[in-house]
Order: sequence, then structure tokens, then C-alpha cells
Amino acid sequence: MNLDLGPEYAAFRAHVADFLARHWPPAPGADPAQAAAAFRREAVEAGFLYRSVPRIYGGGEQAPDPARARIIREEFARAGAPRELEGPGVSMLVPTLLARGADWQKERFIPKTLSGEIIWCQGYSEPGAGSDLASLRTKAVLEGDEWVITGQKVWTTLAHLAHYMFILVRTEPDAPKHEGLSYLLLDMKQPGVTVRPLKQMTGGREFNEVFLDGARTPAHWIVGKRGEGWAVSRTTLKHERDAIGSSARTEDMFAKLVQLARSVEIDGAPAIERADIRQALARIEGYVLAQRYSSFRAQSMSNAGEEPGLIGALNKLNGAEIGHRIAALAQELIGDDGLSMPPLGRKGGARGHEKWVNQIMGSLGVAIAGGSSNIQRNVIAERALGLPRGHGDGA
Ligand SMILES: Cc1cc2nc3c(=O)[nH]c(=O)nc-3n(C[C@H](O)[C@H](O)[C@H](O)COP(=O)(O)OP(=O)(O)OC[C@H]3O[C@@H](n4cnc5c(N)ncnc54)[C@H](O)[C@@H]3O)c2cc1C
Repeated sequence: MNLDLGPEYAAFRAHVADFLARHWPPAPGADPAQAAAAFRREAVEAGFLYRSVPRIYGGGEQAPDPARARIIREEFARAGAPRELEGPGVSMLVPTLLARGADWQKERFIPKTLSGEIIWCQGYSEPGAGSDLASLRTKAVLEGDEWVITGQKVWTTLAHLAHYMFILVRTEPDAPKHEGLSYLLLDMKQPGVTVRPLKQMTGGREFNEVFLDGARTPAHWIVGKRGEGWAVSRTTLKHERDAIGSSARTEDMFAKLVQLARSVEIDGAPAIERADIRQALARIEGYVLAQRYSSFRAQSMSNAGEEPGLIGALNKLNGAEIGHRIAALAQELIGDDGLSMPPLGRKGGARGHEKWVNQIMGSLGVAIAGGSSNIQRNVIAERALGLPRGHGDGA
């Protein structure tokens, strides 16, 4: 099988490398945050970042092309250059607004989300409504030209930093549970919103409980129509699952695992020289490559207007499973260092093997966030393979 992409893509790779040679790294002494922001603006202008977002909303606006996207990612990684920002706003809300938002919502929110000026959090899960999301109870009542929101959300990543939340609420209490929801945008900086941090086992504090006690948002800050929140939330969830299960993310992790196996020593020699470690790496690489080529196939089908079906549904489950295998082998390689806890609050964050401790613990969360692996198996069985629905279905 010849997987060479041919001369057109070789020329594109040279074009990206040339851009990087001219724009990165910044001049010595430049402020790192400002330099990264300025670089991103140039890279968007050149069509290398936010390629699926129209230029009028601050994107690079390019035709979908998974091979070009991969070349950009590889070349940017090689140069150590800033890539697209991540997080609920960029990876989940922006594609949702593009697909279902009003024009004013796109104009007002997308450019500042892409530039990092606006941070978002996702208000879906509640105590008692995670996998069975449609049973959520936080309610919104229209009073004049404002929604008044009362209830509680939990596991809200970044709520302590977010300017806004995209929130799923019950607006039609008498409708069947999936038809009674609406999808609202909410300003977090107001008296009716209280954020309480939750401490994770890594020691970090990325999650929060969010209490909504008469929080208010304008009537037109609704995405889609009243009662159609479930359908809108499916659009967001698809992008969340694609982001979590992205093959690019898995490949990055695997590359770091290979580096780790080269750098740590077992019995006085680099771990990678041992046959059992090489075999374990080769086994994982098989899964990584299978996910990579499946993602190419899914992308090609989407580009051709076809529904990727089973391949699309497999992404998140595969990403979580492979991430877990990578973390397990990393744990074996770092040995006793796996018992250390990354110190909190240190400038520059975790160092060396401490990053792997975060990764190992975090891999458990990846199998839950955006719908647990059990729920993904249900989705694959029922929606992709057409098997009968199980008892008590989740999201
Ligand atoms: C890292 C991380 C980040 C998160 N960030 C956010 C966020 O920003 N915003 C937000 O709203 N939420 C967030 N969440 C919450 C996440 O969406 C929920 O944890 C997830 O949907 C599972 O819900 P739950 O925790 O209530 O577990 P439950 O739904 O109570 O599930 C418990 C267990 O039962 C299993 N189970 C439940 N129902 C079924 C079924 N029908 N069939 C088979 N097994 C089933 C599940 O697989 C799981 O193992 C985050 C979670 C994590 C781990």
C-alpha cells in the first residue's frame, strides 16, 4: 500500500514549513502570550488555523482536507509553534453556532472565542443527570424579555474562569423529557451564578459546581428554538466526542510515549531496547494507526456528504481506550515516579515524569467525559449496528 500523499501535498508541506521559518519562534524577549496571539492571527490569515470557520467570523476558511490539516499539525508541532486554542468554546460551541446559531450570535461570539478573549463552559451535567442527560431539572422561565434560570450544574470544566456558559435547561415542563429542553447562552458574571470548585485526584481544580439562583439571560440568547435544545445539544456533543477521540490527540500521546521509552532506563539500558517494551509499543501503534486511517475515512465520507455512521461513532470510545493503554505503559516505564504528586501552584506546572502522572490519572476521566465508554458502546450497538435498544438508555 502506497501512503505517500504525492507532489501536491509535498509542495503544501514546504509552504507550511516556509511560513513557520518566517514567523516562529518570536524575537528574543517578546512577551510569550502576546507573541503566541500575534502568531495565531498570522496563521489564521494564511489559512492554517480554524480552517472550517468562515473569515467573517475570524477563521481561516479553507476547503476540508484531512491531509492538509495533518501536514499543518505535524509541521507546527515540529516547529513548537502555537496551534488552535482548545476548550469548550472553540471545540464545541463554535461549530454548534456555525451549524445552528443566529447570525448575530456568530458575529458576537465566534471571533472573540477563537482569539481566546472569551472563555466558555458547558452546563449540561447535573447531580442525577449525567448519562441520562435528558432528565435534567435546571429550569428556565421566561419573564418579560428574559429567561430566569434556577438549578444546579456539576463537573463544569473551567466555570471558575468562564465568561459565559452554554447551558441546557428545562423550559417546557409538561413536554416529554427530550422535547422540554432549550439551549441558552448565559453570562457567568452576575449575582445569580455561584461557582464552587471541586478538587480532583490530580490535585488540580478544573471542575466546579455551579449554582443558578434566578440567573438571567436575554430571551433571544437561545440557540435554536424553544424546546429544541436536545437537538442542538447533540450537535455540540458530536463535536465534543470528536475532539476527545481525535486521532491527532492519540498520535501526539503515542509520540510522547515513544520518547519516554527512549529516555528512561531499565537495568542500565534505555527501556526501548527491551523486546517486551518494543512489543508493547508496537501493539499500541497498531491501534493508533487503525484510528488514524479510520479518521481519514470518516473525514473523506463527511467531505463527500456521506454519513460516517459506525466509524464516526467509534472515535470517542477508541480514543479513550488507546489513551488508557498509553497511560498504562507509561506508568510501567516511570515506575516509582508514578507515586509522586505534581506540586500545585508551581510556576510552569508539572515537569518531567510528573506530566505523566497527570496523564495517567486524566485518562480515567477521558473515558467518562462527553459520555462514558459504556454509553458509547450503547450508541454503537443501537445507532450504528441497529441492535435493539437496551433498558434505561443514556445520552
Ligand atoms: C474530565 C471530565 C470533564 C467533564 N466536563 C464537563 C463539563 O464541562 N460540563 C458538563 O456538563 N459535564 C462535564 N462532565 C461530566 C460528564 O459529562 C459526566 O460525568 C458523564 O456524562 C457521566 O455522567 P455521571 O458522572 O453522572 O455518571 P452516571 O451517569 O451516573 O454513570 C455512572 C456509571 O454508570 C454507567 N451507566 C449509566 N447509564 C448507563 C446505561 N444506560 N448503560 C450502561 N451503563 C450506564 C456509566 O457508564 C458509568 O460507568 C465531565 C466529566 C469528566 C470526567
